[in-house]
Amino acid sequence: MSTFSIPDQRTAEQYKEGLRDNRKVYIMGNKVEDVTEDPYIKVGVETAAFDFILGHDPEHRDLAVTNVPECEGDISSYFKMPDSPVAVNDRFNLVKTASMYTDGALPFVKDVGSDILNGLTAVARVMGNKTYEKRINDYRWYCASKDLSLAGAVTDVKGDRSKGPADQESPDYYLRIVDETDDEIVVSGAKAHITAGPYTDEVIVIPTRNLTENEKEYAVAFAIPINTDGITQICRPNFRYEDKNHFPTPRPKRCHLESLLIFDNVRVPKHRVFLQGDWQFAQFVAYAFAAFHRFTAVTYKIPIIEYMTGMGMLVAEANGIQNASHVKEAFVNMIKYTETTKALASAAIASPEDFGGSGLFVANRLNSNMAKLHFASNFHEFVRNIQDLAGGLLVTQPTYQDWKHEDLNGYLKKYMGGAGNYNAEERLKLMSMLHHMVASDFAGWHEVCTIHAEGSFAAQKMMLLAEAPIEAYKAQATSVLGLNV
Ligand SMILES: Cc1cc2nc3c(=O)[nH]c(=O)nc-3n(C[C@H](O)[C@H](O)[C@H](O)COP(=O)(O)OP(=O)(O)OC[C@H]3O[C@@H](n4cnc5c(N)ncnc54)[C@H](O)[C@@H]3O)c2cc1C
Repeated sequence: MSTFSIPDQRTAEQYKEGLRDNRKVYIMGNKVEDVTEDPYIKVGVETAAFDFILGHDPEHRDLAVTNVPECEGDISSYFKMPDSPVAVNDRFNLVKTASMYTDGALPFVKDVGSDILNGLTAVARVMGNKTYEKRINDYRWYCASKDLSLAGAVTDVKGDRSKGPADQESPDYYLRIVDETDDEIVVSGAKAHITAGPYTDEVIVIPTRNLTENEKEYAVAFAIPINTDGITQICRPNFRYEDKNHFPTPRPKRCHLESLLIFDNVRVPKHRVFLQGDWQFAQFVAYAFAAFHRFTAVTYKIPIIEYMTGMGMLVAEANGIQNASHVKEAFVNMIKYTETTKALASAAIASPEDFGGSGLFVANRLNSNMAKLHFASNFHEFVRNIQDLAGGLLVTQPTYQDWKHEDLNGYLKKYMGGAGNYNAEERLKLMSMLHHMVASDFAGWHEVCTIHAEGSFAAQKMMLLAEAPIEAYKAQATSVLGLNV
């Protein structure tokens, strides 16, 4: 067995230094010279940096780093092979802690990538393909030993959703192999909505759907540095790092950015290719990734909905309405939503599964998908409860700049006070954060993210149909009825 040597976990500063590598990133029509300094991308960079802070924090170090025989020294726990049922619980604690650290914006630069690595390893084992398995393992320990960050690129741009890659008007609506030499493949295409792409070291790519035999060139999985020639990223701003209008909070607000990740004749060395032409396994790869990643999704959402529930309750107190019966009803709705999501996540942890007999363990797939579907299906109603309790000030509130203005501060103190201990400042602070969470551009992003990120409703429903004990339900029914069908 080869052993990778590792100096130590990188610091946040070393991570940021690594991003100054001439990557080709655009935002709002401008080429970004240094992603760590761009006022919008910096929000994501600083969010991601927490993955590198966690490993140096004495309180969380035991969770964040671990040892494996394949590497000398400590590696990020994200890269550990989930080769026992306990790994599922460890992963839950790691992701939840990382999410809490960033007020719910999971650092997101090692978890998606490692979920893909786990999915690919499991598939290579099920295929019995030792070449792929070795390449994936080598890549896993390479990333672990260098303490690298990874974007996960799954979603193609897809053109006409009712057609597969071969039937599209353009062959480029799905990423594909366009050329091959003895040592390399050459790929072209574009992957959409790639979280953290502008500020990761590497990108790992897998197919997004099932393929047919005449779509072999689309059956490709690989990983490369994200500053490789031919890669261009176009990203959309979320919100600025310097936020002058909201009241300051103890920690700066966190979030990620996504990019359209374009591959224009990008050369990939073969030792970095993990699937090539095996069209029969394309859907299985996407499915295996989803099996690992959907649990990550549910886990990192839990801290967000816990503190949003708390904020809904606080704003009711600030408005002096907490004892009204319709307000208690809203509290019950929020509690029901949050605690059901948590209970489904707990059920997923309680019955881990050996994925396809690969020896890699995932949280129970039926329960993970139930949790994600419940979370996503009911989030808008949850937000509606908070919007109702807060009142119109959510969108009309004076900004922090008004609060600081000497001519206006007196008026705001005079008119913006609330009930109980909520003087004008405390009430406006709360309203300001609530504006960010449920009434801003970011809130719109968050609502859409809840539905689509980590797979939209249909993806979870397909998993439910695949994983639910449907035959057992039917057997019970036929037994109750005495049917012989
Ligand atoms: C904030 C955010 C972050 C994300 N991060 C990542 C990431 O890091 N990496 C990554 O790879 N992806 C990422 N995604 C992509 C995410 O997985 C997709 O958005 C999701 O799978 C839906 O795909 P889509 O956006 O193309 O929408 P579509 O697939 O077009 O969905 C729109 C609607 O069409 C329906 N539909 C789609 N195809 C069919 C069909 N054949 N027949 C019938 N109905 C259909 C869907 O069910 C849905 O109702 C992210 C998305 C968001 C919003």
